[in-house]
Amino acid sequence: MKFGTKAIHAGVEPDPSTGAIMTPIFQTSTYVQESPSKHKGYAYARGANPTRNALQKSIAALENGKFGLCFSSGMGATDAVIRLLNPGDEVITSNDLYGGSYRMFTKVYERFGVKFHFTDLTSIENIKPLINSKTKLMWLETPSNPLMRIIDIKACTEIAKKNGILVAVDNTFASPYLQNPLDLGADAVMHSVTKYLGGHSDVIMGALVVNDEKLYQDLAFIANSCGAVPGPQDSFLVLRGIKTLHLRMERHCFNGRKVAEYLKGHPKVGKVYWPGFSDHQNHEVAKLQMKDFGGMLSFTLKNDSKENATKLMESVELFSLAESLGGVESLINHPASMTHASIPREERMKNGLSDSLVRLSIGVEDVEDLLADLEQALAKV
Ligand SMILES: *Cc1c(COP(=O)(O)O)cnc(C)c1O
Repeated sequence: MKFGTKAIHAGVEPDPSTGAIMTPIFQTSTYVQESPSKHKGYAYARGANPTRNALQKSIAALENGKFGLCFSSGMGATDAVIRLLNPGDEVITSNDLYGGSYRMFTKVYERFGVKFHFTDLTSIENIKPLINSKTKLMWLETPSNPLMRIIDIKACTEIAKKNGILVAVDNTFASPYLQNPLDLGADAVMHSVTKYLGGHSDVIMGALVVNDEKLYQDLAFIANSCGAVPGPQDSFLVLRGIKTLHLRMERHCFNGRKVAEYLKGHPKVGKVYWPGFSDHQNHEVAKLQMKDFGGMLSFTLKNDSKENATKLMESVELFSLAESLGGVESLINHPASMTHASIPREERMKNGLSDSLVRLSIGVEDVEDLLADLEQALAKV
């Protein structure tokens, strides 16, 4: 099946007891057994729930993977991957990660003796000097948040394979519509389902997709043992969201391109970060590993002050000033004080995350209205 067909059909079947075309919300914590341990495959809902199962199959199919697992948040999914490690193990990851991932790695798991190397993974030469016998995981995020840096997934997985290192990719920004890391050699794909997969800013959820059965069993064991599982109502909402993923992504990409081009030509705008520009770092890699360039972009103002950026964010009317991304409505965000506030300023500046940087999640509205809103807001800065 092709992508749009999978988005609508994969993992879902009419309910056998009623013929209901939509997967029911199995709002139950437990299941009645015929005799001890004799049941229909469901014993307790932390372990398995039919609504969640349908969703896991759907997301796995979208990522061209065999096994899917859903979690109560994207961080819950990331946490499950890090729990595969032991004290003393080392991780190679990038230096402009999602703020919450950076916080978990440094504030939670370094206490447990896991060592994280944060480096610029846009140049793969930076990887080899960090590899030693304790290196167990490479954690990639591409496009990155918020500078849209592109990491060559295939090149990373080739180095990792030679050294017996597991590769996990946070594919949240691309969504499975634009990029499928398992096809590029990754072992695990992570999604903040909260974003494009859910698509309607009404659910917090995470997911992992893998091909290897042993890895799946290990992660399912952690999910059931540690318990960060999502509820059936949220699973239903995401199943519904996924049915229009391909349609939404087409519009996100179309609008994203128009807004990026508009901003690039605006006299008050400094640098625009959007991987579709031919002068964007690693644009050629993005072209190879992504189907299109998505609806996420960031930019700075020529008058590069926090006050100026704040003025812009207070002046927009259609864009909503909020954290998160990937919903149908357009959002504007100030990484330095919002999503990335947990990264110390010194670290932020070193990584090019300036005080005036503004991030946009371009929604699926009519793009003329989005451009008009930016025009009137930029006139005020
Ligand atoms: C939002 C986000 C996460 C965390 O997901 P939650 O669902 O908020 O826990 C991780 N990575 C990226 C890139 C994100 O945008």
